[in-house]
Amino acid sequence: MIKLVENMALPREGFFWIIDNKIIGYSIEVPQYNYEYQLEGKTHQNTWESIKPDGCDKPFDYYPRGRVMVDPTYDNDNKFDGYYIMIFADECIKTQQHKDMIIDYYNLDVSNIKFIKWMNNLKQRAGIEHYSCHGCRNK
Ligand SMILES: [Zn+2]
Repeated sequence: MIKLVENMALPREGFFWIIDNKIIGYSIEVPQYNYEYQLEGKTHQNTWESIKPDGCDKPFDYYPRGRVMVDPTYDNDNKFDGYYIMIFADECIKTQQHKDMIIDYYNLDVSNIKFIKWMNNLKQRAGIEHYSCHGCRNK
């Protein structure tokens, strides 16, 4: 008999860049209960100097980047009921390979994830420069 093994690790949230097909970023675990947001005040801009690859002289907004938000949700009895995920990303982050990398890095393939919403087109929809890399800005 085959026993299904669930991935019991917790999903993570945070922000990232994709540089040379690798993810570089911050991530923290999101527990099912008593979650406290730990990224307060940390942004792409103010962490870039400490995260960027050695010798890199590009500004923080040069490479494609994005953010993963993980929300635990509860039923009417306050019982944990699953995670909702929102992923905001540069519009050039759209291949399945990129999505798989993000899902893997943030451990978003756990069984109790109910929903993943990808938001890659904020620029078109809102007319804002949210998460647009050097390449996208120069198109
Ligand atoms: Zn881009």
